[in-house]
Amino acid sequence: MGRNSVIWVAAVAGLAAVLAQPVWAANVKVTPLGGQDGEFCPQDRALIFEDPNGTRILYDAGRTVAGAEDPRLGKIDIVLVSHMHGDHLGNAHNKAPNSGSCEKPDVSVSALPNSNSVNIALAKKSKIVTGSEMPPFFANKLKANGGDPKNSIVVRFGGSVKVGGVTIATVPALHSNGLDPDYIGGDLGAAMKAAGIAGDVGLATGYILTFSNGLVAYLSGDTGMIADQDKVVHGYYKAKLTVMNIGDTFTTGPKEAAYVINEMVKPVSVIASHANEVATKDGKVIPGTKTAIFKKAVKVPVYIPLSGKTMEFDSGGKCVAGC
Ligand SMILES: [Zn+2]
Repeated sequence: MGRNSVIWVAAVAGLAAVLAQPVWAANVKVTPLGGQDGEFCPQDRALIFEDPNGTRILYDAGRTVAGAEDPRLGKIDIVLVSHMHGDHLGNAHNKAPNSGSCEKPDVSVSALPNSNSVNIALAKKSKIVTGSEMPPFFANKLKANGGDPKNSIVVRFGGSVKVGGVTIATVPALHSNGLDPDYIGGDLGAAMKAAGIAGDVGLATGYILTFSNGLVAYLSGDTGMIADQDKVVHGYYKAKLTVMNIGDTFTTGPKEAAYVINEMVKPVSVIASHANEVATKDGKVIPGTKTAIFKKAVKVPVYIPLSGKTMEFDSGGKCVAGC
């Protein structure tokens, strides 16, 4: 073998070693878009997940994302909506990022009859991926506003759909999922409102996201305790990162949510969500809050979604930066 050949073999071997490197170095970035920079506030639901391949997913825009113009959004490929309640779909939203205070945000901008989620998807040309009977609602809203109804994508329980390299599945959430008549409008909407009934769009959902680095995340949505969290989320999907709603009254409270984490889902890391309280001051958890009770009761690390602070998780669900 001549000298040049040896150099070639070495170069090819080096390239092969680079290509063979495991994807462990590629992390999923999670950025909360809450009511106040650096804090965890009562209305906070929205999280952006960024896959290592660049796909950006907005989960439950709610009211703290200041409309489609919110500069924190950037590119959004996928919008997820766990269920239709106004604090998730976004019946109203912040005037601007950080408007008002943590306790009293200025969510004076109405997003009816579209919703914050739909307005964002329209402006960003995102796919809206939902389960249950929600997809036709979103398809119609997109169409009615000049968008492409095909951008509303269905994924019902037990199946999955791959969008932008991220595999998305839905799992049941034990909650309710009535569509407020304000999104329906017209005579029908008025009659339903007068009768005090909501539109039926099927069951509320949670999500299972499998990112391109292999990380599996469970986003609980609003839910009570449900055996699927053991049998399906843990047993089948083996979720390593969980976003857990802990607010009580409407969902599991901190103690129930801690049971779900410790005994059923058994993830490696948890992000607390939907606490419905002023949970932090200067970025530190306030003693005695639901968030503090949850954090203490959970056996694995619990991370607080401080607005604007990006956390990075590896394929095994371990937080490797920003926590
Ligand atoms: Zn809620």
